[in-house]
Amino acid sequence: MVSITCYGGANEIGGNKILLQDKDARIYLDFGESFNFGEEFFYEYLQPRAANGLEVYFEFGLVPKVPKLYNKKVLALTDLEYEQPDIDAVIISHSHSDHLNHLSFLDESIPIYMGHGTHQLTEIYHKLYPQFCNIGEHTNLNFFKSGDMIRVKHLTIEPVPVEHSVPGAYSFIIHTSKGPVIYTGDFRLHGPQSHMTQEFIDKAAKSNPYAMLTEGTRMGSEQEHNYTEEEVEKKVDKIINNSKGIVFAYFSMSNVDRFMSFYKATLRNKKKLVIDTRFAYVLDMMREKIPALPDIIADDNIQVYFRLAKSGTFCEKDYYIYERKYLPKMVTYKEVSENQKDIVMHMSFNKLVELVYIKPENAEYIYSSSEHFLEGEENEDERKVLDNWMRHFGIPEERFHKAHCSGHISKKELIEVIKTINPKVLIPIHTQRAEDFKEFHNNVKIPEKEVLMDV
Ligand SMILES: [Zn+2]
Ligand SMILES: [Zn+2]
Repeated sequence: MVSITCYGGANEIGGNKILLQDKDARIYLDFGESFNFGEEFFYEYLQPRAANGLEVYFEFGLVPKVPKLYNKKVLALTDLEYEQPDIDAVIISHSHSDHLNHLSFLDESIPIYMGHGTHQLTEIYHKLYPQFCNIGEHTNLNFFKSGDMIRVKHLTIEPVPVEHSVPGAYSFIIHTSKGPVIYTGDFRLHGPQSHMTQEFIDKAAKSNPYAMLTEGTRMGSEQEHNYTEEEVEKKVDKIINNSKGIVFAYFSMSNVDRFMSFYKATLRNKKKLVIDTRFAYVLDMMREKIPALPDIIADDNIQVYFRLAKSGTFCEKDYYIYERKYLPKMVTYKEVSENQKDIVMHMSFNKLVELVYIKPENAEYIYSSSEHFLEGEENEDERKVLDNWMRHFGIPEERFHKAHCSGHISKKELIEVIKTINPKVLIPIHTQRAEDFKEFHNNVKIPEKEVLMDV
């Protein structure tokens, strides 16, 4: 008997925390945090104290109150008693917070499995943001790569690489007593590495699966054009080409494909790409696994922006040790300000204060990240602040651009993928439109949060 229980990821986009049970084997597929985590009860400085345990999270039902799962320390002040864990493995699909952010609560002896690339990204982000990115202590942390087989009791789990908006993402074929069960994780078919997703689809179809847990992030966005990364690059290229001043851009540091789009478009227009020390560090570390990335130190087309720090003299001891490696590539606000027409610069929301020093003229701003930020009601305050900065520095609406493509497969392509893989049972997760799947599959089972469902 195979069953699943969604402790997160049912009727919501993200927060995947899916318990799969088969005979005496119990594994979790991902252990993430919901995107709306805590927003009902917490706001700005009203936050649970991170140093404490799970008592506040249990109070508001933010973390499932499940025995034999969490570590002694986080349970200390709760009314849930610590017991030896009964979980055989936690399998992580990729490094996004909605798939792994609650790993730090788990008992350290539970075996965790993740791809090498995912582990590396968690290490990079932990170094840069120790209080936000922390997978916790684990004594049984295992790394897999394409071609490996993970054995957990009678289960065999096959990780298959797929393309997503972060490198190192995997889907899984889980060989259970009832037959193969597919878990897609997050994936897409419209990026530069989509051949990987295509190979996954072929493999999953050949396995003749019993069930498939599929993401359905874009189920409700039928009408919108499915922008590809190639189109994003073209659009960015055009904006840079037409620009009369500096071009600022915002996109996620872990989105390697997006970085490459901006890098190539910048080079084609014979400009320099300016990134800050954090971004330089992320790229430098990722290059160990992704040799196609440029070498920050050797590449003359990339410059590293050093912010004005304590001494005001840009001297070595003003900066963290990891930043000092990039001192030979240093540019400051002075050089950027003097060479505005020759520069494309990564500029995140939290760094906008640099504009005061750079004093941009005729600047363009390219917003190249999820459009939820620009359109979602929950970000209205931030959006207003961003608008104010744009207005203050003379960047009108016609020079504020959006260039983005989703990390998730389009509705149209997903329908085709499900037809090709052809599972007997279809289980939509990571979606708010689970019912819609019934239109094109005759055996859809919709999971409810924290309710065990036989499959
Ligand atoms: Zn996700
Ligand atoms: Zn993701």
